[in-house]
Amino acid sequence: MAFPSPARLHRTIQLAFVLFLAWTAWELYGYAAWLDGKGAFVPRPPAAEAFLPLSALLGLKRFLLGHGFDPVHPAGLTVLLVALASALLCRRGFCGFLCPVGWLSGALSRFGERNGLRCEPGKRLEWLLTLPKYLILGLLLYGFMVRMGVREIDWFIMLPYNLTADVAMLRYFLEPGTATLMVLAAMGIGSIFLPGLWCRGFCPYGALLGLLSLFSPAAVNREAAQCTGCGRCRRACPSRIAVDRQKRVSGPECVGCGECVSVCPTGCLRMSVGYGPTARRMPGWFFGAATLAILFCGYGLAVLTGHWNADLLPLLTRHGLLPPFP
Ligand code: SF4
Ligand code: SF4
Ligand code: SF4
Repeated sequence: MAFPSPARLHRTIQLAFVLFLAWTAWELYGYAAWLDGKGAFVPRPPAAEAFLPLSALLGLKRFLLGHGFDPVHPAGLTVLLVALASALLCRRGFCGFLCPVGWLSGALSRFGERNGLRCEPGKRLEWLLTLPKYLILGLLLYGFMVRMGVREIDWFIMLPYNLTADVAMLRYFLEPGTATLMVLAAMGIGSIFLPGLWCRGFCPYGALLGLLSLFSPAAVNREAAQCTGCGRCRRACPSRIAVDRQKRVSGPECVGCGECVSVCPTGCLRMSVGYGPTARRMPGWFFGAATLAILFCGYGLAVLTGHWNADLLPLLTRHGLLPPFP
């Protein structure tokens, strides 16, 4: 049986996670309604904590300093660790395969490409458009990771706000303000013309994973002798990387999606692991399979060690956040 192309595998995995997260959001909606006293009890889906990256960053600092796993949002910390491991081992696999924003961004970029709307900014503008996410990341790391000590983190973790942060996030997107709608619309429409506008330019999570991916031995290699310079790889790349001008794509923007490998007519693009002549050629499904393996290993380990699903009911009771009995 022939394996699907890297692009098909990439989009299939992305879609599967979008559907899973849509189901997660539905479950969270039921839980939020129960908290409001408007329905029967629905268990809180731990996977929703994947949307609490700041809480996960604080949990990471606490964990690294030997103060244990985040007791309130352990799944959020697990997802962050999975994302960091995927960046280190297989080129931002979290962005390439698991994040729903990456899926939406890719779909918008393909729409722009098919309809001839895609713009190609010059080198200097490209560089400028990439900068904001590092500034945002720097501010967040300084404000949350550097300035906050463990005692402050422990205090924050137990705040009623943090206990229901997943619900607050859901409500934020269900009832967005005008400013939020305008930003979402600008990013959505902008991504049609400039692929990956949000991911490449503004997402601090992607910036962090991109910096870590610089240490990854995985890359996309281009065999220059076989390249015809057709530019298909560049136009297919959801991260606006000039693949056709690089010998080894290993920069912070590559998410390892394999879209470039799939469209290359000469087969001169290859996924590889390692450096120089000893680099090992990998099959097209490698980055996707490696990302899933890291995710399921992380999830399995978290479940087995009791670090996935936190029972928040006693804490909610203590803060008087439970709904009134009917
Ligand atoms: S850059 Fe941010 S929004 Fe884009 S795929 Fe990565 S984590 Fe998701
Ligand atoms: S260079 Fe290739 S693998 Fe990397 S993001 Fe672009 S299309 Fe995906
Ligand atoms: S798609 Fe292949 S042949 Fe065409 S420019 Fe890219 S690497 Fe070269």
